[in-house]
Order: sequence, then C-alpha cells, then structure tokens
Amino acid sequence: MSDTKLYGSGGYIIADITEEQAKKADLGVGKLFLAPIGKLEEQKMKKHYCKVCEEEFNSPPKVHLEEKNREEVADNLVLVERGQYNCQKCNSIIGEYRVFEKKDDSGEIGNAKPSGSP
Ligand SMILES: [Zn+2]
Repeated sequence: MSDTKLYGSGGYIIADITEEQAKKADLGVGKLFLAPIGKLEEQKMKKHYCKVCEEEFNSPPKVHLEEKNREEVADNLVLVERGQYNCQKCNSIIGEYRVFEKKDDSGEIGNAKPSGSP
C-alpha cells in the first residue's frame, strides 16, 4: 500500500501505509481518510496537498501535537493523544489524528500503541 492518498478536512496526505491502516481508513465511500488511522509516522508521509495553498508539496506535513493526556472516552477506551497535520507553508490544517488505547488488550482501535511515548 505505498503512496496512498488519505483525505483530511483541509487537503490530503500521500503516505506509505499498511494494509491494516488502509482498512481502517476505508469508510466505504471510495476514498481513504486520515482520521480513522491514528497517527502516521513522519517518515511514512511523502507528500501533502493543501486546499488553502492549492498546492501539492513533496514533503510531509508538519505534525502538531495538540494534547497528550489520558482521557477516558468510553468504557475501556482511552484517548491518549490528539493532534493535527499542518501545511508546511501556510500552517492550515490538512487533517487531524487521534490515538486511542484500549484498557484491556483484547482488541485494538486506532493506533493502540503510540510510538515515541515515554
Ligand atoms: Zn497551505
């Protein structure tokens, strides 16, 4: 699944994603979306397109961490991190991400194990 186009509210990101991530991103409308995947690693993102600039950049977007704490959003489901992907040039939001963690390890939702956490 290399160089897959993933849509966000303000454009799209072209990234190298796994088949598993592609399944999460596919909401059944013929496009793949950024939000359900969780956080993408910066080195996996190849390009981004910004609606404001109307331009495709041959570089990953900026990753902006908005909040990192543990917030229980449902039984067994904890939101551990949320943030945005921003345009390199004008800083507008290309898309958002959320990383969830399940309290028990019986299943997985989003990127259950955030990379780079202490
Ligand atoms: Zn822009």
